[in-house]
Amino acid sequence: MSPNYDVVILGCGEAGIFAAYELTHLHPGLKVLALDQGQDIYHRSCPIVAGKVKECIHCPVCHTMCGFGGAGAFSDGKFNFTTQFGGWLTDFIEPKEVMDLIDYVDSINVAHGATTQCFSTATPEAKALERRALAYDLHLLQARCKHLGTENNLRILTNIYEGLRDKLEFRFNTEVTHIAQADGGYRLTTASGEEISCRYLIAAPGRSGAEWFSNQCKELGLELLNNQVDIGVRVELPASVFEHITDVVYESKLVYRTKQYGDQVRTFCMNPYGHVVAENVEGINTVNGHSYADPALRSENTNFALLVSNRFTKPFNEPYRYGKHVASLSNMLAGGVLVQRFGDLVGGRRTNEHRMSKSFVRPTLTAAVPGDLSLTLPKRQLDNIIEMIYQLDKIAPGTANYDTLLYGAEVKFYSARLQLSAELETALPGFFAAGDGAGVTRGLAQAGASGVQAARAVVRRMG
Ligand SMILES: Cc1cc2nc3c(=O)[nH]c(=O)nc-3n(C[C@H](O)[C@H](O)[C@H](O)COP(=O)(O)OP(=O)(O)OC[C@H]3O[C@@H](n4cnc5c(N)ncnc54)[C@H](O)[C@@H]3O)c2cc1C
Repeated sequence: MSPNYDVVILGCGEAGIFAAYELTHLHPGLKVLALDQGQDIYHRSCPIVAGKVKECIHCPVCHTMCGFGGAGAFSDGKFNFTTQFGGWLTDFIEPKEVMDLIDYVDSINVAHGATTQCFSTATPEAKALERRALAYDLHLLQARCKHLGTENNLRILTNIYEGLRDKLEFRFNTEVTHIAQADGGYRLTTASGEEISCRYLIAAPGRSGAEWFSNQCKELGLELLNNQVDIGVRVELPASVFEHITDVVYESKLVYRTKQYGDQVRTFCMNPYGHVVAENVEGINTVNGHSYADPALRSENTNFALLVSNRFTKPFNEPYRYGKHVASLSNMLAGGVLVQRFGDLVGGRRTNEHRMSKSFVRPTLTAAVPGDLSLTLPKRQLDNIIEMIYQLDKIAPGTANYDTLLYGAEVKFYSARLQLSAELETALPGFFAAGDGAGVTRGLAQAGASGVQAARAVVRRMG
C-alpha cells in the first residue's frame, strides 16, 4: 500500500514550522502533513491569560505550550545567533553550517515581519561588562541577539502560518499516540484511532511531547542518551538593578561556578521590564518569563531564571522525572507557583501574604502564592542559587536586596538525546528528529535551524 503522505511533520513548533517552510519551498510538489495536538495560531488561548481563571486548570492540551508556534509562540522571541547556547547542534553539524542555518531562519522571520535590529556583542560597553563580570568570576556568554517581542512574535508566526496553509495540509487537535515502522516508511496512530502513513517522518514534538517521544523511540529500538535537567528559580527585581547590563546586552548569560559545591549556575532568559508567567509542563506548574517590545506593555521589573544544571550518572537514568518531582513539590505546597522574598529565604522565614504586602517589589505573577522555597528545592540547588545571588549583587547591586522575589520552581527539562546523523536522521532510515523534543536544541534559533536541516535532507532523498 502506498503511504498517504510523502512527509509527515509531527509537531508545529519552531522546528516543525521551519521544516514545513523548507519542504514546501524546495519541493512544492510534495504531499506534506503537519500535525499538532494543539490549536492553530488563531485559537490558542490560555484561560489564565484570557482572565477566565486565576490558576492553572490543567487543560488536557496546554495552549501556552502547544499548537502552531509551539512553546515559543507566547515567548518574547529572544533570537540568539550563536552555537554557544540554545542547543547542541554542533555535536552533529559543523559550527559554520549551524550559523548559516540560524541566519537563514532569521531571514525567513525577517521576510515575515521580524525586526532587523540586533543587540551587538562587539561594542566597547559589552566588552567592559564582560571584563567587570570576570573580576567576580562571573562569565558572560554573549551572543548577537534579536528581541522580537511577545506581540511581534505572534504576528510573525501568523504571517508564516498564512503563507504556508495552502502549501501543505495542517491538522490541529491531533495528538499522535503511536509511531511504528510500516511498508518502507512510518505509520502514526492518532488519539482518535486514525492511522496515517508516510515515507519520511520529521518528529519535532518539543518539550511538551518529550517524555512520550522518548518512550516511542525506546519501543522502536532507538538509542537515547541522558540529558541534563536544570532546576532553579525565577528572580524578579526592579528593572533599574539590571538596566546597566540589559541596556548593553539584552540577553546576558552569566555563568558562575559555586565555591561551595563547584556546580555551575547560570542566568537564563533575561526579560527586562518583563512579566513572570506560569507554565504547565505535562500537568506540573513551573515558572517562566517574557517581555514585550512595546514600551507601553512593559512592567517596572526585570526577571530572569537562575538555573543549576544537574547531570546524573548511571544507574539513574530519569532526569526528566527527577525535575518533575522537584517542581511538583512547589505545586503541592502552593497549588501552583510559589514566591518568596530573598530576605525571608536567607532569614529562614516563610513569606506570607502579610510580608508580601510590605514588599517594595510587586510581583508581576499575581497568582503566585507566598511560601517557603527551602521546603521545595533540594539544599544543594538552593545553596547554589543563594551563592549566585550574592555574586550577582557585586556587578548588579540590589540583586541580593531583601525584597528580590524568587519564584519556584523553574525547571528546564531537556529531552533524552537521540543518536542522530549530520542530517538529523535517526538510526531508522527516513525517520528524522528535530528541535527540543529530540534533545538537540533548547532555543528558537537552533530549533528552527534543525527543522531546516532535516527538511533539506528529505528533499535530497526525494531527488
Ligand atoms: C515561555 C517560554 C519562553 C521562551 N522564550 C524563548 C526565547 O525568548 N528565546 C528562545 O530562543 N527560546 C525560548 N523558549 C524556548 C523555545 O520556545 C523552544 O526552544 C522552541 O519552541 C522549541 O521548538 P520545537 O519545535 O522543538 O518544540 P515546541 O515549540 O515545543 O513545539 C512542539 C510541538 O509539538 C507538539 N506535539 C508534541 N507532542 C505531540 C504529539 N504526540 N502529537 C501531536 N503534537 C505533538 C506540541 O503540541 C508543540 O506544539 C521559550 C520557551 C517557553 C516555554
